[in-house]
Amino acid sequence: MRLKRTAISAAVLAAALAGPAWAQQPKDWGKRAKPDVEDSVAKVDRPACPLCATAVDRVITAAAIEYELDTDYKVVKASFNVYPYVLTACPKCSYATYSANFHKELTTDDKKALEEGLDEVRKEFKSEWEIPISHVIRAAGASHRALKSEAGTLYEIYLLGSYLAREAADATAERDMQRRAIEHLVLAIEKEEKFQTPKNRYMAGEIHRRLGNYKQALEWYAKAKLGADELLTKIVTRQEAQTREAMDPKKPPKK
Ligand SMILES: [Zn+2]
Repeated sequence: MRLKRTAISAAVLAAALAGPAWAQQPKDWGKRAKPDVEDSVAKVDRPACPLCATAVDRVITAAAIEYELDTDYKVVKASFNVYPYVLTACPKCSYATYSANFHKELTTDDKKALEEGLDEVRKEFKSEWEIPISHVIRAAGASHRALKSEAGTLYEIYLLGSYLAREAADATAERDMQRRAIEHLVLAIEKEEKFQTPKNRYMAGEIHRRLGNYKQALEWYAKAKLGADELLTKIVTRQEAQTREAMDPKKPPKK
């Protein structure tokens, strides 16, 4: 895509330096209404945003009972859907993090970094009181980049984003999230000991497969088999076969 010369502003340049641009404005993924479950399952409170002091609605959920998982560990069927509530974002300043940590105080340095790092997402988000789920993911990504969080945290935020995008049938945003997720997952596997597990290596393969990067998918699946338990070995073997089938140009790729 060619940008007109006049369209390049300092803000666009800053965004380009900060990381890849979002593919496009995501579709409406809906709002976060209070879940229709008992109070013992979801607790609602209204802590003050640690960055701008606005009172923000937050929902903290108990773990759901999971009945069915997709091959990238997205919960497909559960007693209720926790994904929209994992993160909380301030509608006023766009500071966003894990709901359970949202109320936690920020240091002066953190606040300074966030003021700079959230500039872009604030510009694209106009409403003051209703915050769409797609924006929560962007805001959390920008917040944790500003706070220099580890790659593993950003991976988890973008993986969650890919799940929520899939639920909203927003395929463009889903791929965008998956690209961000895989970029950070590979870094996390390199640098963070807790990410050096067969399951995470499998996830690297699985996200690559879903993005159509079959060669990388097979490389990661092979690495995942080292140290994998019986169940994971079974899953990896099945996904390897599916990837090879998709690579065969004579056959149309399966979903
Ligand atoms: Zn705020």
